[in-house]
Amino acid sequence: QCIMACPVGALTEKENIKEVWKALADPEKFVVVQTAPAVRVALGEEFGMPIGTRVTGKMAAALRRLGFDKVFDTDFAADLTIMEEGTELLTRLEKGERLPLMTSCCPGWVKFVEHFYPELIDNLSTCKSPHEMEGALIKHYLAEKLGVDKKNVVVVSIMPCVAKKFEGQREELSNENLQDVDYVLTTRELAQMIKEAGIDFTKLPDEEFDNPLGESTGAAVIFGATGGVMEAALRTVYDLLSGQDLESIDYVQVRGTTGIKEAELTLPNGKTIRAAVAHGLGNARQLMELVKSGEKHYDFIEVMACPGGCVTGGGQPIVDARTQACIDVKAERAKAIYDEDKDMPIRKSHKNPYVIRLYEEFLGKPNSHKAHELLHTHYVKRDRF
Ligand code: SF4
Repeated sequence: QCIMACPVGALTEKENIKEVWKALADPEKFVVVQTAPAVRVALGEEFGMPIGTRVTGKMAAALRRLGFDKVFDTDFAADLTIMEEGTELLTRLEKGERLPLMTSCCPGWVKFVEHFYPELIDNLSTCKSPHEMEGALIKHYLAEKLGVDKKNVVVVSIMPCVAKKFEGQREELSNENLQDVDYVLTTRELAQMIKEAGIDFTKLPDEEFDNPLGESTGAAVIFGATGGVMEAALRTVYDLLSGQDLESIDYVQVRGTTGIKEAELTLPNGKTIRAAVAHGLGNARQLMELVKSGEKHYDFIEVMACPGGCVTGGGQPIVDARTQACIDVKAERAKAIYDEDKDMPIRKSHKNPYVIRLYEEFLGKPNSHKAHELLHTHYVKRDRF
């Protein structure tokens, strides 16, 4: 295993472009791609577009032209994560156990807990991160639906993140001896492939993702910014418990780049959920110490290892120092994420019609046996050095 020099795995970055080109050229392989929320607000920078330009439609078009057999959106599985993790939260609150529940979408953060706070491993949500959920569904649900041999399916994730490359290889993230995700490419690697293919990115038309694993809501896209997972979860948990369709769903307390943010949500049953959000591992450590010392009590904690969340992940386009001096890159990309959320016709995960259908026809209900088999995982204590 790699030495714990960099908790987000940036020092072990390995390019996977060649392997992906090889899979795309193999007629036996059915190669499926999915893209994380933060990629769509940064990829354009590699083609000279201003920081914070949204290129969701062009990105889908480029992926199709690269030859992927299906172009899906990790955002679908982000909605699914909210269903699974929201249910997990409500169950733990009811039983009063393993609180605070801590999010598990960020492999840099998960590995940080495994190394430095192993006594809190049980507090991590057992949900796989969204792209791992999507990979598992592609191989063990979609392949059968499409009549494709799952052994020939290759799942490629486009991520803003280098830690996801490590995560993709974790043996816990597999079913029937098939890794959920075969290759992880960063935003930069995708840009390189588009350039190698001679595609004129800026001239591409806007295209849609394929379905059913490409449909998502505004709640899913905000996973790309710090506080987004928390906000998405609160939107759903409140509605599900109240039986209402709350109109005011912008939880601004958990937005922005304050190191540690706190919010309280009073539920219709009178119970209050105490939430905290941290980004960057320095803030995460501070938060964990507050929790361990008993100085603070929370029910639900979101942590993202990168400052600002995935929008500034290690796999995103590199912005030179001169530009950084004039533009707040984190803020511009995050603004694009929240604009994308606002423009979505559906902004709550539990209202995603394809997620609803997936439960009806395949998973049963959130946290069901089938859902646990495919969408949940476990963690291991790791040595510090
Ligand atoms: Fe990866 Fe950083 Fe996002 Fe964590 S916050 S998932 S390390 S890009």
